[in-house]
Amino acid sequence: MQSHPLNSDTLSTQQTNRRSFLITAVGAVGVAGLAAWRPSLAFAGAGTPGTVTIVQFSDAGKPTGKVSVPRVVRPDSEWKQKLAPISFQVTRHADTERPYTGSTWNNHDHGLYRCICCDNAVFSSETKFESGTGWPSFWQPIAKENIVEIRDMGLGMERTAVSCRECDAHLGHVFDDGPRPTGLRYCMNSAAMRFVKTA
Ligand SMILES: [Zn+2]
Repeated sequence: MQSHPLNSDTLSTQQTNRRSFLITAVGAVGVAGLAAWRPSLAFAGAGTPGTVTIVQFSDAGKPTGKVSVPRVVRPDSEWKQKLAPISFQVTRHADTERPYTGSTWNNHDHGLYRCICCDNAVFSSETKFESGTGWPSFWQPIAKENIVEIRDMGLGMERTAVSCRECDAHLGHVFDDGPRPTGLRYCMNSAAMRFVKTA
């Protein structure tokens, strides 16, 4: 949250407070689960309305080129049928799994992590590190094209939410207290990803 000088009664301060309130209100609505808000925010400027450009990866973890693919858009009712309850809550309603409960926070196998909803490759074991948080943590995505980062003012905190470029699934958040070389900590939800082990 931004802090505001409470002892100032200038017009600009009032405007700033009002703007902050509006942003916070939108964030709160997002957390409440109105997922319909998110696509337009997430995909502003990301190619033509119906398509997105991502880097595809083979299951061996090798990039196979940049491609334009149709955005994956499904109604909530279909996602609910396709996904386990925790995966549905995390990816389509920006929930967070409880730490140490997911399947991959302590996974040390080599492989890649695909979006549980659309199979877009999002992270690699090559950049996974031990964060001690109970959530799978990485210092960079497998390709920056494959994810979207959005400022998230929900829960009264200013954070950066990370979602899948191809289907807008919420994956987790990114913080700036990670290890070298990037200094970033992509704090993901196991339930948002499918691990593909490489030989
Ligand atoms: Zn996806």
